[in-house]
Amino acid sequence: MSSGATEGRLSRYESQKRRDWNTFGQYLKNHRPPLALSRCSGAHVLEFLRYLDQFGKTKVHTPGCLFFGHPCPPGPCPCPLRQAWGSLDALVGRLRAAFEENGGHPATNPFGARAVRLYLREVRDSQAKARGITYEKKKRKPPPPLPPPPPPAVSPATSMLHPDLNSMSLGNVDCQSYQYGHVIMPAGQAGEEVVMAIVDPCHGAFLPLSVFN
Ligand SMILES: [Zn+2]
Repeated sequence: MSSGATEGRLSRYESQKRRDWNTFGQYLKNHRPPLALSRCSGAHVLEFLRYLDQFGKTKVHTPGCLFFGHPCPPGPCPCPLRQAWGSLDALVGRLRAAFEENGGHPATNPFGARAVRLYLREVRDSQAKARGITYEKKKRKPPPPLPPPPPPAVSPATSMLHPDLNSMSLGNVDCQSYQYGHVIMPAGQAGEEVVMAIVDPCHGAFLPLSVFN
């Protein structure tokens, strides 16, 4: 069964599955009290998964940690390392298949137990929260729109203008434009640019724009 020729043709998945199955067998052998595969339940699988956490390499922040929810924390913290949810999920899948390939009955497959499914879901959700990852939404996001260019510097004269047009002194600016809904007025110099401000009477808001000399 484990001849060199077969070994060479094993896919990565198959050899990983074989390694996992051997690891699990080793775990059962070292279990105190000793545990036979036939008596293995979902609870024992959970025990095995928790045991594997000590070899994990994924930092999972506790809710009290400053970096809780950060996908890429900027510094170290004392939070524990765990097995990543994705690794556990794939491992359980391989062991579930291996159990049946090694003569186990699907109905009694401990790796398919409801408790194991619930545990994996819990690990997924808590790691998603702790690390700021939402596993459900793995679809690609469209690139974010370019940020709008920063508004030109507005001189103090402009910001002093009162948005209430009825009481506004427009100086020598032609008031005709008012009937089109906008009043354009020179609002001061900013370097080489003449900064203009459009006052929208509907919203009382300033829309600064710059005009080159
Ligand atoms: Zn932390």
